[in-house]
Amino acid sequence: MRTFCATVAFLLALCLGCAGPGAPEAAVNRAMAQEAATPEIAPVSESGGLAFSTPRPSQTEPPLVEVPEESEEALPWTYPISREILDDEQDVLRLVNANNLLDKDYPGEDMLVEVTVRKANSNEMLARAVASEALQAMFDAADEDGLKLYLYSAYRNYRSQEVIHYNRVEAMGYDDGLVQVAGGSEHQTGLAFDVISYAWIGSRFNEDFADTPEGQWMAENCTRFGFIIRYPEGKQDITGIEYEPWHLRYVGVEVATYMTEKGLTLEEFTVEWRNAVFDYEMQSQQSMSIDSF
Ligand SMILES: [Zn+2]
Repeated sequence: MRTFCATVAFLLALCLGCAGPGAPEAAVNRAMAQEAATPEIAPVSESGGLAFSTPRPSQTEPPLVEVPEESEEALPWTYPISREILDDEQDVLRLVNANNLLDKDYPGEDMLVEVTVRKANSNEMLARAVASEALQAMFDAADEDGLKLYLYSAYRNYRSQEVIHYNRVEAMGYDDGLVQVAGGSEHQTGLAFDVISYAWIGSRFNEDFADTPEGQWMAENCTRFGFIIRYPEGKQDITGIEYEPWHLRYVGVEVATYMTEKGLTLEEFTVEWRNAVFDYEMQSQQSMSIDSF
């Protein structure tokens, strides 16, 4: 229907002479006029050989012009992150918090691999492959800068989180917000890591870790490997979690760079990109209905 309408619109434009410069129809028009004025020379193909000559349309009949398919998606995508990344086939942008809980079986054990980096304890450490590779690259880069990072915690299943949360509340006498409820921990995604220095092994974590050379190095360099400091300072009212300079979340290099430059939490970024997609879809629909009268 739209193609038909566009074809009608084009034919009207031809009659009225109102197609502006740069419009595809005008380009076709110019090309045809040029072609009519060019002497008959057999065209040469890209490979250098003679190409088959295509029959010319009759100059006495109005040309029938097919509008290319891509003109149906005419609106440009202007949001800084590409649609391919936001389509997120690997689910690396998954938002997890107290209001966005994961299912018990997420992401499935076949999605997890053993993490190979230096560890702070003998626990089994699993993660999503894409995040594990990025973590290894980050540890290697820290090594080159003379800093030894230690992985304290990686994937955590639903049941473990349930136990940890229960124990925390029992120990504190109240829920202090440092431990997420079951299904609300990013560690269940296999995309989150707690990374510390040797000196902090056995310590109770607190925000002073940010002042250590390792903490400072991670804050300055983690985006290069696709990580964000997921619970940044001063954003507790948005994330619901205290500042955790040791907790890294993999989101990919492009998104991590963008979020860090704009100072966005994952909660804020998620709202922003979903709005961008929504606005784009709405504008596309509006432009289609204008096209169809
Ligand atoms: Zn953590």
